[in-house]
Amino acid sequence: MPEPFLSVVIPVYNEEENLPELLPRLKAALDAIGRNYEVVLINDGSRDRSLELLREAAVRDPHIVVIDFNRNYGQHSAVFAGFDEARGEIIVTLDADLQNPPEEIGKLVAKMEEGYDVVGSVRIKRKDSFFRRMASRLVNRVTSMATGVHLSDYGCMLRAYRRGVVKTLCQSKEISTFIPVLADMFAGRVTEVPVAHAERLKGQSKYSLWKLVRLQFDLMTSFSLWPLRSTLAIGMTMATASMLVAAVLIVGRIVKGHEWAVSGVFTLFAVLFFFIGVLLFAIGLLGEYVGRIYMEVRHRPRYVIRQVFGRERRP
Ligand code: UDP
Ligand code: MG
Repeated sequence: MPEPFLSVVIPVYNEEENLPELLPRLKAALDAIGRNYEVVLINDGSRDRSLELLREAAVRDPHIVVIDFNRNYGQHSAVFAGFDEARGEIIVTLDADLQNPPEEIGKLVAKMEEGYDVVGSVRIKRKDSFFRRMASRLVNRVTSMATGVHLSDYGCMLRAYRRGVVKTLCQSKEISTFIPVLADMFAGRVTEVPVAHAERLKGQSKYSLWKLVRLQFDLMTSFSLWPLRSTLAIGMTMATASMLVAAVLIVGRIVKGHEWAVSGVFTLFAVLFFFIGVLLFAIGLLGEYVGRIYMEVRHRPRYVIRQVFGRERRP
């Protein structure tokens, strides 16, 4: 096998139903491009037959390398493992569920050859549920505000990266991260192409609502200090407002006398509880950041690889 020009990185988590269709379609699409390629599939601790299918594929097809994690570490960790393994000049990430057709890879590669560092993609006619689309809309809006990196579609993993960008990504050792945003921070020329989007072929999305919320929080806190700063602003506004309220209460006490002040006690209580709420929120947020710092300083590895299949045939 000659040195590949194109590497395709695919995280796989419980996708036994999709793999039998993904692999042949991918092979056809990549053969059609007519460049040397490799496919790096990462088994992210699947509990179904995914690993078995991947191993068979690696035996059959010399283009395929399979990395097997010892448990589930999440999609982005899996992609990082793939990046480490990939040796192509252009590296493309793709989901295993066929929501992004592999046939679109050629389009991305053509765009890359115009000299871009990163080519993203925007899903036209998204085939997700209404709720999922609305959630994504909100996520896109908030994320671009908080991170300062503007992508039209943060959720779409069908993206192409130049080798240099990927190498820089691999040097970023932070644990909680979001690859498309991180990549765009390091890339010089970035563009996007529209791609088709299909329904998930089989099985369910591996992201529950809770996992999505976690991912979003990761995104916000690992790329900006905006949440911290906004609590500061809220705190300052509150403090100013509370001084005004206190002034009103004192004046009321002097002008209207004793009686009025007693009922004022309840107002005070209300105001007090409100401030306690704000305070707890700010402490919680601070704790979240401190927790993250703690996680990062331990410098634990992102994942543990149990075995790699198909690598021995490489030059
Ligand atoms: N995935 C993974 N580990 C996980 C969750 C997902 O490797 O913990 C993979 C999954 O197999 C798929 C891709 O990441 O190839 C995207 O997952 P999914 O389609 O469930 O996400 P969605 O399309 O709902 O955003
Ligand atoms: Mg999907």
